Amino acid sequence: MTLLDIRNLSTYFFTDTGVVPSVGDVSYFVEKGETVGLVGESGCGKSVSALSIMQLIESPPGKIVEGEIQFEGQDLSKLTSKQMQAIRGNRIGMIFQEPMTSLNPVYTIGFQITEAYLQHNDVDDETAYKEAIQVLEQVGIPDPKQRFYEYPHQLSGGMRQRIMIAIAIICKPSLLIADEPTTALDVTIQAQILDLLKSLQQQTQMSILLITHDLGVIAEMAKRVVVMYAGKVIETASVQDIFHNPNHPYTKGLFESIPKIDHSAKYLYDIPGTVPDPRHFPTGCRFHPRCSKCMDRCKTDEPMLKRTHPGHLSACWLNEDFK
Ligand code: SF4
Repeated sequence: MTLLDIRNLSTYFFTDTGVVPSVGDVSYFVEKGETVGLVGESGCGKSVSALSIMQLIESPPGKIVEGEIQFEGQDLSKLTSKQMQAIRGNRIGMIFQEPMTSLNPVYTIGFQITEAYLQHNDVDDETAYKEAIQVLEQVGIPDPKQRFYEYPHQLSGGMRQRIMIAIAIICKPSLLIADEPTTALDVTIQAQILDLLKSLQQQTQMSILLITHDLGVIAEMAKRVVVMYAGKVIETASVQDIFHNPNHPYTKGLFESIPKIDHSAKYLYDIPGTVPDPRHFPTGCRFHPRCSKCMDRCKTDEPMLKRTHPGHLSACWLNEDFK
């Protein structure tokens, strides 16, 4: 059953220096209980598409100019900010990248956790306290009754990220959006946080939209992958399929950029060039200035997502023969 269905979403920023089409005609979906990985380089539109779901795009200058965000029978893009407040932090939880800047340094951990619970549930402080202690235990915070009264600066990076997860899940959301949840953490803590997310998902059957540029995290967590480049979805498939048979030259480049453990390559591969300036996206295929397979038509005509085989879509003119 589909929980989140994003259809032809476009989010633009209307700035003094021009229109920035950060997300253009993007579609993807998340099934109930499923983890979907949203991958791509920094600046490709992953986070803007997630912030659009939450209606957290600062407006002005940002605006959803087109598309639908269907979630539990409602189009979130059409809701008023008051209606959205009832969903944000309640039916949809979000973990942000940087726990130190996302937590408020002047409020205790307990205040920040119970605030979300009290806002969405008609309960007294005592009930909210008990729920917060329970969720702190659930995310593996030792001595939760003491931690409840501490401030963010008194906790380690890994513990702060667990607190962010506790805030995001206290209302038992059906969808958790995790935006680079482990980027700021060292590898051991990263593994613990990923294990925690997996076990919470098994307990609650929530869906997870996992935003990352780390394909290792995707392999560990996701069932399906959506690859974005320059504000567009350029490939989507199951994790197995995309790891064994990437189709789009950009996706292939991402895999080639992963360091090989056997040292078979003398140099680490990198995709030439950089992500284009969104105010001046290239014509045709937006990846063409960086693509070694670029043909004449790639410079003028934009390829659409096309099925290459069941469950696998890719936007590249090299797939012209696929029906
Ligand atoms: Fe490369 Fe052309 Fe495919 Fe774009 S459409 S990825 S430029 S081959």
